[in-house]
Amino acid sequence: MRRVSFKHGIHPPEKKETTRSKPIEDFPLPKKVIIPLSQHTGRPNESIVKKGERVETGQLIGETSAFISSPVHASLSGIVSAIEPRPHPLGMKVQSVVIESDEKDEWISASDAVQGSPDNIKDLIKSAGIAGLGGAAFPTHVKLSPPANKKIEFLIINGAECEPYLTSDERVMLEYSAAIVEGIEILKKVLGVEKVVLGIELNKPECIAAMSKAVQGKDIEIVGLKTKYPQGGEKQLIKAILGREVPRRGLPLDVGCVVQNVGTVVAVRDAVIKKKPLIERVVTVTGSAVEEPKNLRVRIGTPFIELLNFCNFQKDSAGKVIMGGPMMGISQHNLDVPVIKGTSGILAMKKEEVIEYNHRQCIRCARCVESCPVYLMPYEISLASESDRFDIAEKLGVFDCIECGVCGYVCPATRHMTHLMKKAKTYANFLKSSRS
Ligand code: SF4
Ligand code: SF4
Repeated sequence: MRRVSFKHGIHPPEKKETTRSKPIEDFPLPKKVIIPLSQHTGRPNESIVKKGERVETGQLIGETSAFISSPVHASLSGIVSAIEPRPHPLGMKVQSVVIESDEKDEWISASDAVQGSPDNIKDLIKSAGIAGLGGAAFPTHVKLSPPANKKIEFLIINGAECEPYLTSDERVMLEYSAAIVEGIEILKKVLGVEKVVLGIELNKPECIAAMSKAVQGKDIEIVGLKTKYPQGGEKQLIKAILGREVPRRGLPLDVGCVVQNVGTVVAVRDAVIKKKPLIERVVTVTGSAVEEPKNLRVRIGTPFIELLNFCNFQKDSAGKVIMGGPMMGISQHNLDVPVIKGTSGILAMKKEEVIEYNHRQCIRCARCVESCPVYLMPYEISLASESDRFDIAEKLGVFDCIECGVCGYVCPATRHMTHLMKKAKTYANFLKSSRS
């Protein structure tokens, strides 16, 4: 087995030991789900159901005609009790369909089997609402539709799960290794590729063993990724596995690759073989403020607080709750927000673990430059962003920043680096759109 890596990056404490040996457990059917009409990268959906209507599990409830979008489905059967803006884990209020469960979990009948042409399979993946489960929730059918002038040579499967604490992908690889292989075969057919590489970090030897067994007799290479953050970033994964550099402002398809996360591969397989839309996902619930950390299979739309309480949440001692991992996750101020397609984990930390760092002057130590996985000059971008010189930040490549948090992690001046990157991107985009 090849062992590969990328340049730069960091080695934060892994903190995966509390949940990595916990098998995926089914979270009980919630009494109510809140389904945001926007859970993906792309245009938000519009509701196609009305308040008071009865819906069945798996029923389409929100869609749009836009190509870059991903429809949403009822994750339980019951009555639509509200269609209104509700708090969303990304921090804003988003139009959402609220469904009160009838506790029957009656599924809508599955559609007829599709003809197996690549386009038909892609349509099925789109209509099932499959979006990247690794966190970004980019619509999967879009990734599977490269422009005609971009030849795809490699399908790369992402089993890195490099964020500390998170173990949902690890459990999926251990418990659904055969389903991953079935999903890979479907994706190969859609993309028309022969070469498949599955990258797994070397801190998951059991996953490497399970997947090596599952791919026996198949033309799928397993590659061991040195344990380093952010090894699971698409560009870092491609660099490590193939030695190819995705160009500035470019995409994996510019270097002949499509990357899919292991959880997404299983969702694709379920959509195509079981005709099952994306109504549930595996979520790691962990951190010092939960007494019984777990990996849970959860219906989309389940409020965070219910998952936390199921894991014996110590609310009074909790200092911070994050959706995702500690490096790229998003702090939550309202625990009634629902699990969305991109919720890989919920991390609850005790007050004593949460340190609020003062943002200080840059001392030009260059540690951020030595660690940035996309070879930017983070300190220069942060200074431009601080001075509201978003034009300079753009010239310095801020749009290539993957918001991995590495520069802030290594900074001795504890500067709020990722915030300044996000600020520069937001304002640069805003200024451009207001000029056009
Ligand atoms: S947050 Fe952006 S600038 Fe900072 S290390 Fe990551 S990619 Fe580089
Ligand atoms: S690590 Fe911090 S202090 Fe050092 S150069 Fe980068 S921004 Fe400045």
